[in-house]
Amino acid sequence: MNQLIRCINCDDLFLRTPFDQFPEYEACTDPSSGIFQTLDRDDFQDFLRSHHGHQLEYLKVIGDSFISEKAYFEPVKTSYFRVTNGKERFVVKRFRERIEEPLKYQLIYGDYSLKCTRIEIQAEAIARQLEAEFKTSPLTQAEISDFLDLYRHIAKTVDIDNLERIPEESPHPLEVYHKLDDVSLVFLLRNCRNIFKGQKYPAIDDFINREKEDGVLLLKATYKVQLREMAPLKKRIPAPPVRLEKKELAEKE
Ligand SMILES: [Zn+2]
Repeated sequence: MNQLIRCINCDDLFLRTPFDQFPEYEACTDPSSGIFQTLDRDDFQDFLRSHHGHQLEYLKVIGDSFISEKAYFEPVKTSYFRVTNGKERFVVKRFRERIEEPLKYQLIYGDYSLKCTRIEIQAEAIARQLEAEFKTSPLTQAEISDFLDLYRHIAKTVDIDNLERIPEESPHPLEVYHKLDDVSLVFLLRNCRNIFKGQKYPAIDDFINREKEDGVLLLKATYKVQLREMAPLKKRIPAPPVRLEKKELAEKE
């Protein structure tokens, strides 16, 4: 099990995993020998040594608070999650700058939220789908472009927070697809009457009903992580352990 440990004095973090005691293999300095030497590695012991005499505590990750700035499979990225020591809450920033670096953990006083920066329609996919489905009585380019303009107008007016999220449609955590609400759907259908005449109208009605749930009519919202940092409350760090004082006394004698 992973354990997140904080040094209260320095605010340094350490994530203790079952792997931090695994030895690391390194190529031998003499390449002709073709052997690898094993380096003993115990990162946790290093952490304990550099925070000797400091007060440490465990932090508990607050469930479901994990958010990443890039796709799940990207190795170099920044992620955030909320943690608590039972009294205070913090944000942890997890990051690395290069693929070969180990992940770093930074404690941040404050919180984060997600801000929607853009709502888009899937214009190219919609146009492709319309062309593919209206084979027998093809739509004109004007009809397709009027439909896209109408849909873009709707995308501009919706309140994204009221739309149902379809998160499984995107591998990117900050790009989330949303389903159109009923009011916007009625508006869309009603205005399609002005664009599509005759048998094209019931056909577009069918198209909209097929694509609205999980198809090309989903709206794509792009978010960004907004960090709100706060000044830390004055920390109460306990006095150094007694044995230090004893040692000092012994040195004076
Ligand atoms: Zn420390």
